Amino acid sequence: MTNFPIQQAADMIRAASYVMVLTGAGVSTPSGIPDFRSPSSGIWNKLDPITVASIWGYHDNPQAFYRWFMPLARQIRQARPNPAHVALAEMELVARLNLLVTQNIDGLHQIAGSRHVVELHGHLRTASCLACGHQIELDEIWPQADRGQVAHCQTCGGLMKPDVILFGEPLPYDALRAAQEAALFCDVLISIGTSLEVEPASDLPHLARRSGSRVIIVNRQPTIADKIADVTIHDDVATVLPALVQALRR
Ligand code: ZN
Repeated sequence: MTNFPIQQAADMIRAASYVMVLTGAGVSTPSGIPDFRSPSSGIWNKLDPITVASIWGYHDNPQAFYRWFMPLARQIRQARPNPAHVALAEMELVARLNLLVTQNIDGLHQIAGSRHVVELHGHLRTASCLACGHQIELDEIWPQADRGQVAHCQTCGGLMKPDVILFGEPLPYDALRAAQEAALFCDVLISIGTSLEVEPASDLPHLARRSGSRVIIVNRQPTIADKIADVTIHDDVATVLPALVQALRR
């Protein structure tokens, strides 16, 4: 890997007064978490995502959701942050990163020490009633879910659902708004470990670009937004980000 693109990226970040980062599944795959939205992850070989992981599927057959989801959730709970998460937490610590927007539900950015995190696709900390909105800690229904049983709301008897965003559900309004505002406001947007195929997250680099900011893309594979990027680095995020932080410290 030539260091030139990393140096270029570091220079852009240093010159910026507001830097936002957008992360996707590729940041967590080095921690052993499969990309469950990607057809190539192997997860969907025997299952239809719309049947088990959509909000309609959840209403129809929540047991099927838990059968699919719990092995993934257990994997996520055991996962630890990798050098990419740690590097992003360090970037915030040295005041080179203002807002981290993630499509991941694993909470590994916060565990690594990132403080300003917006979660577009929800998380595994809480669960909410689909009927009345009553919210509880996910731990309260974890033993039941672990046995494949569906939990019901103690207030109204409605169906409880972990606060992860399923296919067909709108993104959390506040999170989406914060991400879009940051994209319009930032001087640099760094997109990391996402193929930028899922809307509306995929719109953020375009929004940033149109408002005059620089775009840096770090992803193992080419992305559909490469053509609007100032710097593209197609390499392992767990190698590139620590190198970038090192370049920023120099
Ligand atoms: Zn309820």
